Amino acid sequence: MTRFGALPRPSNVLSWGPKIGPTGSLPRPLVPYQAYTTKASKALPAAQPTPLTVYVHWPYCESKCTYCNFNKYVDPHPPVDRLADCLVTELRTSLAAHPGRPVQSVYFGGGTPSLAPPNVIERLLTTIATMNPFDRSQAEVTLEANPTSLELGKMRAFKHLGVNRLSLGIQTLDPSALQLLGRNHSVADALRALGTGQKLFPNNVTFDLIYGRPHQTVNQWQNELRLALECADSHLSLYELTYKRGTPLFKALESGKVERLSDNTLSAMYELSIEASTRAIQSKELCYCPIQVCREYDLYHYEVSNFARCESVPSQIFPRHLVANDPTSADIIRSFRSQGYHNASYWRGADYIGIGPGAHGRITDHHTGQRLRTYRILNPPEWMQQCQSIGHGLRKTQPLTAEEIREELLVFSLRMKEGLSDYRLAQYTTGGQTLLEWLNREQVELFIESEHMELVEAPVFDQCAKDASTAICSSPLLSLSPTLRPTEKGLAVIDSILPRLIQ
Ligand code: SF4
Repeated sequence: MTRFGALPRPSNVLSWGPKIGPTGSLPRPLVPYQAYTTKASKALPAAQPTPLTVYVHWPYCESKCTYCNFNKYVDPHPPVDRLADCLVTELRTSLAAHPGRPVQSVYFGGGTPSLAPPNVIERLLTTIATMNPFDRSQAEVTLEANPTSLELGKMRAFKHLGVNRLSLGIQTLDPSALQLLGRNHSVADALRALGTGQKLFPNNVTFDLIYGRPHQTVNQWQNELRLALECADSHLSLYELTYKRGTPLFKALESGKVERLSDNTLSAMYELSIEASTRAIQSKELCYCPIQVCREYDLYHYEVSNFARCESVPSQIFPRHLVANDPTSADIIRSFRSQGYHNASYWRGADYIGIGPGAHGRITDHHTGQRLRTYRILNPPEWMQQCQSIGHGLRKTQPLTAEEIREELLVFSLRMKEGLSDYRLAQYTTGGQTLLEWLNREQVELFIESEHMELVEAPVFDQCAKDASTAICSSPLLSLSPTLRPTEKGLAVIDSILPRLIQ
């Protein structure tokens, strides 16, 4: 309980965005917020076409997981060739509207895109390379896969074609939970997949785990997490289970076949986690906190649900005084490369094209400067029919208002320890307002006092950069901008903080 009342843990999922989950404690603001009088910088005119990223949705799965509400379908004989033709068509149509913009990363998600024949991946990557600047040796190309032998057998081919990052949907390493979640692999399969993935994509493998499952105990979660961390590569995502309407697990909950862990239990676990974290820092004793356990393994908690491996980076990348005075920025820099470019670029506000049934996008029309959200037709046959008749399966484009753009930027940015800077705000909005001129100053002050937020001069991390070196060096501000960011304590309750900041 805090002076703001009982603040719930953060949700895993934004209604319109990627997945999100919890957390600990930390440093006081480096500079009091009153010190800032600087006006936001005007967004600098882009000297070069702005980069973008591409998300490709493969809508088919082998079976349906009980918790999943993604746009996915089970079809033993999916129309692979027609689907591939349509994806290529829609990709061509979409990129033709943004000539010259470099494609920095491609993410094959789903559904289960690793069920696609490798030549589909090849056709799509080749299409990008023929339409826009796309350096396959530099771009991040991620493929989602499940740990089944069918998919693993194709991994070498995917790698050969340009995939260089693997996202494994493992979800649990507890044999008793696999059936509950509807997973069609074993724990042995999962561990084997992790081993194979790390051999093929060293330092570029991530996997997901879901906790807070019915009947799960803190001890079980601790054991599962220990095993996961022993096997983790460069990145890990930990999501609290959410019961999404329409899923089998939601129906089981409604009918009383399973029970949600009580809020009291979850809160007690969470409180225990924080206390245990603090103790563990001093005594290194075993604790229950996912966050703390990850710290022991040198994974940095850089986003609500996401952890990236820290690595040593050359000291000349950041000024020495920054490392000494701002451990958060130092940790962000050390984990920057492992964070993965694609998802971080969503959170940093970059443009992306989403293709395939049900894919969303967020793209700026460079003729008008208007930012648009795009929605594709959900149903694959209908989507394919429209692609074949008019070249794309777009269902709706929604112009974003200035306020929507700002709020979206705030919501995503404050889910990262990196936070939101005046520089980034000016990059995507007009009017030159600083964070303090826009946000509810009284609430900002309260959250800083209570150590949920910090307002600091922090590095501007270029959303187009692939590693810490280019992120810092390519910053037009050549280093620092006033930045509002959550502490570990604030990240744990960020869903409750956000609305109060824009009241
Ligand atoms: S979680 Fe992944 S594999 Fe399972 S049904 Fe959803 S999209 Fe398919």
